[in-house]
Amino acid sequence: MNEAAMNTPPFLISEAVDLKLHYPIAGGGWAGRSATRYVRAVDGVDLAIAQGEAVALVGESGCGKSSLGRALLRLEDPTEGVVRFDGQDLTALSQALLRPLRRGMQMVFQDPFSSLNPRMKIGETLAEPLRVHGIETGRQARETVAEILHVVGLEPRVAERYPHEFSGGQRQRIAIARAVIARPKFVVADEPISALDISVQAQIIDLFDDLKARFSLTYLFISHDLAVVRHIADRVAVMYLGRIVEQGGPDEVFDHPLHPYTRALLDAVPIPDPEKERHREIAGLVGDVPSPTTVFQGCRFASRCPHAMDICRQRDPVLETVTAGHSVACWLHME
Ligand code: SF4
Repeated sequence: MNEAAMNTPPFLISEAVDLKLHYPIAGGGWAGRSATRYVRAVDGVDLAIAQGEAVALVGESGCGKSSLGRALLRLEDPTEGVVRFDGQDLTALSQALLRPLRRGMQMVFQDPFSSLNPRMKIGETLAEPLRVHGIETGRQARETVAEILHVVGLEPRVAERYPHEFSGGQRQRIAIARAVIARPKFVVADEPISALDISVQAQIIDLFDDLKARFSLTYLFISHDLAVVRHIADRVAVMYLGRIVEQGGPDEVFDHPLHPYTRALLDAVPIPDPEKERHREIAGLVGDVPSPTTVFQGCRFASRCPHAMDICRQRDPVLETVTAGHSVACWLHME
């Protein structure tokens, strides 16, 4: 790589800047602007995803991962902050102006069955994005459908069949094929393997790896299970109650976790060796998960953190770089 290329910052495909997504609660004083209580699903997130990068977003259920993924595609309107896709500010666009951008950003859902129309043949389902975005129709579209089915590991003849004729793993392959057939620049995969058998999960992970190499796909892979993301992620972002509390390369986050929450998540990953599993010590979390309606003054993890100090309850730690490419929001690691 020449010096100019080395000094050129990577092109960002997706970016969130101080993104907030707060949902008003019914009975919480709701009257539009006068609502007094909100679920703070996303509560001040900065995240930048470079072209060709696979970022894994991990955390317990309810931490705001899916809301963040949807907001990055402007499937949800942010309460505050900015979302950019391919250099464009999505927050400033009307639905009509967003429509042509939809081809470039797609989503894969947890439940492939609900994302496929049971009354449409697989071939029709896959050809739909090509038709809707004015890319191809007729014979050309049928050829592209056959091609993408081959890419995701299915026989082209399955185009004539219906979703109920497939297993869960095959249906997820079809849903992934539908997401990538129009060659999007960015895909958000929201827990795409958590509804599948363990034996099938590894195959779908391999498929994401393959698609990344084949199409230079940029994607955000959302998972509550840290163990599954190590091998596919270029970067891992750990989310807790609406905030990213640690991010870095998989080796840094898995082998040198800095945030007590990341360490606890890693401790909860089962070890495949039953002997080691029996003897290991798990640094269990103390306390309860605070309500997502809480307005935090200090660190949002303080009520569960075994290392909480006075400063943690008084001041909110922000994400700071500790070593190159590895950042954490924790007072234990601040100067
Ligand atoms: Fe624990 Fe304090 Fe770090 Fe929060 S800032 S994770 S409470 S040590």
